[in-house]
Amino acid sequence: KYREEDENYAVIGLGRFGGSICETLIDLGKEVLAIDINEERVNVYANIATHAVIGNSMDENVLNNLGIRNFDHVVVAIGEDVEASILITLLLKEMGVKHVTVKAQNESHGKVLSKIGADRIVFPERDMGRRIAHYIASRNVIDYLELSHEYSLVELSVANPRFKERTLIDLRVRSEYGLNVVAIRRAGVMIVNPEPTEYIKVNDTLMVIGADTDIERLKEKLD
Ligand code: ADP
Repeated sequence: KYREEDENYAVIGLGRFGGSICETLIDLGKEVLAIDINEERVNVYANIATHAVIGNSMDENVLNNLGIRNFDHVVVAIGEDVEASILITLLLKEMGVKHVTVKAQNESHGKVLSKIGADRIVFPERDMGRRIAHYIASRNVIDYLELSHEYSLVELSVANPRFKERTLIDLRVRSEYGLNVVAIRRAGVMIVNPEPTEYIKVNDTLMVIGADTDIERLKEKLD
């Protein structure tokens, strides 16, 4: 049976993105091989990662010597040098690495990566920009996670002191808005899967899942 504990990871490129992937995987108890062409970057991660090595990952021999094909997950975290990112991804897929996650610099870089078989392509700056725009654009959005083009999971605060306490049924969250409140945070306590008869109070934070247009409408009602 598949055991998560047995998974091992390699992170190629220890810039801000790759470095933070590496640190978080280690915090999650994973084995991580950290690779960078730059000695200084490798020194930073020598005490953090399971192993840290200096090497040019564009060189097939370097990847072979590291036994990269035996890794379950490899993250290519090279932003600036798009050519390196593409070539390394290609080599990893040719060598048969199962899960290759690559950071894309922009949409066209992403397109090429998907053509050559990258398993997951991430756009951290684009996605983080969108996320932050959502919460600076409206004062009651605390956090925002895009699930698809139309659907999101949003953390909304009920901040207006004049908001009248009502139950989820009375707010017609599901019947009128088609939304689901998956949790309510109240004074540091999480009420997960609240009953429809649960009250929404001023200063509550709601975790709402549904269509963006419906979330917009609910936001107005909570204001
Ligand atoms: P970020 O925006 O996340 O900081 P960068 O593109 O600035 O990302 O950093 C990429 C990292 O990848 C750098 O530390 C760089 O030394 C490393 N790198 C670039 N090319 C290679 C390569 N061919 N092999 C290994 N590491 C590389």
